[in-house]
Amino acid sequence: PTLGRIYYPKRLVETFAKKETTKLPVVHNFVGGKFVASQGPIIQTVTNPATGESLQSVPSTTKQEVDHVVQVAQEAFESWSKMPMGRRLNYIFQLREGVRKRSAEIAQVITRELGKTPADAQGDVARGLEIVEYSCGAAGKLEGMFQKNVATNVDMMQMREPLGVCLGVCPFNFPAMIPLWMLPMSTVVGNTIVLKPSELVPGAVELIAQVVDEAKFPPGVFNVVQGGKETVDHLLEHPGIKAVSFVGSTPVGRHIYRKASERGIRAQCNMGAKNHAVIMPDAAKDTALNALVGAAFGASGQRCMAISVAVFVGEAGNWIPELVKKTQTLVLGTTEKSDLGPLVTEKAKQRVEKLIQSAESQGAKIEYRASVPFSSGNWVGPTIISQVQPHMDVYQQEIFGPVLSCIRVDTLEDAIQLINQNPYGNGTSIFTQSGVAARMFQSNIQVGQVGINLPIPVPAPPFGFTGSKDSMWGDLPFYGSTGFEFYTRPKTVITRWDEKVLDAIHTSMPLHR
Ligand code: NAD
Repeated sequence: PTLGRIYYPKRLVETFAKKETTKLPVVHNFVGGKFVASQGPIIQTVTNPATGESLQSVPSTTKQEVDHVVQVAQEAFESWSKMPMGRRLNYIFQLREGVRKRSAEIAQVITRELGKTPADAQGDVARGLEIVEYSCGAAGKLEGMFQKNVATNVDMMQMREPLGVCLGVCPFNFPAMIPLWMLPMSTVVGNTIVLKPSELVPGAVELIAQVVDEAKFPPGVFNVVQGGKETVDHLLEHPGIKAVSFVGSTPVGRHIYRKASERGIRAQCNMGAKNHAVIMPDAAKDTALNALVGAAFGASGQRCMAISVAVFVGEAGNWIPELVKKTQTLVLGTTEKSDLGPLVTEKAKQRVEKLIQSAESQGAKIEYRASVPFSSGNWVGPTIISQVQPHMDVYQQEIFGPVLSCIRVDTLEDAIQLINQNPYGNGTSIFTQSGVAARMFQSNIQVGQVGINLPIPVPAPPFGFTGSKDSMWGDLPFYGSTGFEFYTRPKTVITRWDEKVLDAIHTSMPLHR
């Protein structure tokens, strides 16, 4: 059933039909297996960024409601954490099937609320599904340790146990993938989770909650609350929350990391980025330039792994006119034939336009700026800026728009130095035919994810997402074996089974003898 814009569980449609004839529908929380309306004030209108059409309203879940959802998740934890792994896995298999079946529907909602092209929106869901599938192998990832006779008739074992209720806080730019990093990895090992989607794009998580509902997950294992900063703060301050997974901007990630650390709970915070691609003069030119255009302008630059700075070494700097030519072929829109969509909000558009202007006024050169063929929506045409210098705002800030800054340097060493001085460490890449140059780059670059002759080095599920510096705070990266470590903690049990009576009191430190 639809209300003209988004899909709802059947039982809600009737309610909306009665109550919401003129007002926008309000997106619901999912608590204890039920879709429920928050009593909090409306804080956000979700709009279609390609047209400006209003789609639905997002409430701010209140402190009282937060207390309730955490309590529900705590109660669910009692039985879910004790359930045999095989049974929990069955739910994750169902989740995989459900998301797979409804992936086209989820992708449509992403296009509608975020403006991703259909192919890119499908990629968003598909990359999330990969993590759901990886989670299905959890049984082999939780082995403990056992040592016999560490002292006379004393054995020692260590096991990994779930933490309790986890919190997931998501950004706007991957409405399906990032929630699907958090939901299966946290729950498969026995935790329950409260997830807060971005208030700008709540629709994909709403559909994922429907899948969880249809898969008949025990109520309270997966919960969704809507809201923004205030709701997140209520959750962070709640003593029932035992771990926080955050993906979003660096200032917010730092705030969340600090708040979690104050309470002594663990946090993994994936944050902002400034990703450089180095183009060596010996690179395969077309491969390098095609890759650059795709990675800079795909998703309109709204990816944490987008390439936003091209560092041309030596003669490679003469390729900028060809880069411009290739960029001129890109088509703006949200149809199957489009290459890039709009920016998420009007505010984001204004910010990006201001940064482009600042580059010009600070002495950089606008090599190319595509015109926009639409009269409404948050569109910014692909833009290439050359002669960018590190002190300029356009270099200092994460732009998160379809803007590629070009810098020329003389040597690979200069390029490495520039990148290492940047506070972010999410991703970087080099294009070269030289194994020596590539090896020098991979060995000396201080960035957590490195691509050689490919532009967006996002690790596959078993490896974990290993951004570094101001792009990742926390020691245990999302997914991969570190993902399972993050969502569990070790417990050590030492046993003594001995016929011999302990016939004396020993007050000295016991030794393993
Ligand atoms: P954001 O930081 O504005 O919001 C992220 C989440 O935090 C949202 O759910 C939001 O409601 C909440 N939030 C916002 N302000 C808050 C506050 N003061 N206190 C508590 N919670 C708050 O990020 P965004 O604009 O939604 O996402 C874009 C950013 O995310 C970019 O910086 C991008 O690089 C980054 N990102 C990083 C990765 C990665 O893996 N490194 C992946 C995707 C996006």
